[in-house]
Amino acid sequence: MAQTAINLAYIAAAILFIFGIKMLGSATTARKGNRISSIGMLIAIVVTLVDQNILSYTWIIAGLIIGGLIGLVAAKKVAMTGMPEMVALFNGFGGLASLLVGWAEFDKINTLTWAEYAGEPYFTSSVIFLAVLIGAITFTGSIYAWGKLSGKLGGAALVFPGQKFLNALVFLSIVVLGATFAGQPDLSCSYHIFIAALVLSLALGFLGVMPIGGGDMPVIISLLNSFSGLAAAAAGFVILNNVLIVAGCLVGASGMILTIIMCKAMNRNLANVLFSGFGASAQKSGDQTEGEMKPLSIQDAYYVLEAARSVVIIPGYGMAVAQAQHVVKELGEILEGNGAEVNYAIHPVAGRMPGHMNVLLAEADVPYEQLREMDDINPTMPMVDVAIVIGANDVVNPAAINDESSPIYGMPIINAHEAKSVFALKRGQGPGFSGLINKLYFLEKTRMLYGDAKATVSALVAEFKG
Ligand code: NDP
Repeated sequence: MAQTAINLAYIAAAILFIFGIKMLGSATTARKGNRISSIGMLIAIVVTLVDQNILSYTWIIAGLIIGGLIGLVAAKKVAMTGMPEMVALFNGFGGLASLLVGWAEFDKINTLTWAEYAGEPYFTSSVIFLAVLIGAITFTGSIYAWGKLSGKLGGAALVFPGQKFLNALVFLSIVVLGATFAGQPDLSCSYHIFIAALVLSLALGFLGVMPIGGGDMPVIISLLNSFSGLAAAAAGFVILNNVLIVAGCLVGASGMILTIIMCKAMNRNLANVLFSGFGASAQKSGDQTEGEMKPLSIQDAYYVLEAARSVVIIPGYGMAVAQAQHVVKELGEILEGNGAEVNYAIHPVAGRMPGHMNVLLAEADVPYEQLREMDDINPTMPMVDVAIVIGANDVVNPAAINDESSPIYGMPIINAHEAKSVFALKRGQGPGFSGLINKLYFLEKTRMLYGDAKATVSALVAEFKG
């Protein structure tokens, strides 16, 4: 195939990626965006297969079938609440793939001296090193993050004395090894440097994720997503494949933008997320509370809601677990029919992935204009008769604004505590994702409606229907 045609096809694929990513920004166009990006990827794969000197189509087809089947089953089986774990695994395998590409290329050329090598020596050794370094960090970091998120390896941050020093030492050692590796006069003697750097990079991925826990995990998943893109871009330079470079840079940039957005949503900076050991301190603080959580019967809740003129529904992770979105929408419609103004307050990190609540409520056909962002709804909260908190916890924890000693101090929240009264729907006394106790539940104006969110909201709907 002529080189021009190949490059044109790659440009078309890149354009489709960019439009696809842009469309992911809105719930109405997200599905279409996903499809458009997939078409771009299909073009990229087909053109690469035709263009490159493929040694064995048998292996590639076998890999496509096995990988495709695993992906299909995993995507069908995964619950919405398990998406961050799945993304963590995707990132990890993406990193591993880049690592293997770098390693394979190194294996191909490491018996040569640079005089025998046809390419650009220092450039090649640098990009091989980068692909392996970033790929290895992404791989072990993501697998550990997956273990933490799924609860298999404990979700808390693990800190120990000298941890930052150890991590800095490992990082510096890798830099020194990298400089030595890239500066070798020939590659044949650098296998031991390569292996040492590989082992240290694998260790660094693990060590880097260790002090991160609790509510900071989504940020690290997003950062590792960005790393997986950078590793892929480095692998693209290794095998001189333009579309891999472009796709890798797009993933790297979009992952980094999302990371920054999430840090802003928590009023933190990235360094604080990476090095503060947030999850570890969160386990210990926030447990001094006064008063008690006061339960309310469904019937009494009905009387209050019946009289309410303004209601704000604040969904969180528990609504996703209970899959209560459809019945929540039904309750919203009933309240509107009863003359109340109903809005849904959406916190950017409510649930377990960015946009989690938007997706669930869109699935239940809640009108978009009722989905109000935090900055938009907060000024109206003092006028709200009832704030119904459905399985949300951290995103309505007032400690974030009134307790300087709290680890989440400074994180923006939905100001449910400012509403005239608060109904909190949860199963029991369980803390939020950060492990903190929420003083909102102990306020005089707050009443607890205990039980699974779907069952509780269904009972309220039944009460309205008489
Ligand atoms: P939280 O995880 O803080 O709290 C959820 C609450 O829901 C729990 O207190 C739990 O209490 C309750 N709950 C669980 N299951 C049910 C159920 N079936 N019915 C009723 N209630 C239930 O959720 P938030 O949405 O408030 O906060 C999100 C947290 O997750 C933040 O800390 C955020 O940083 C983090 N995070 C966010 C991600 C994102 O990108 N959105 C990704 C990963 C983490 P009980 O056990 O008593 O029922």
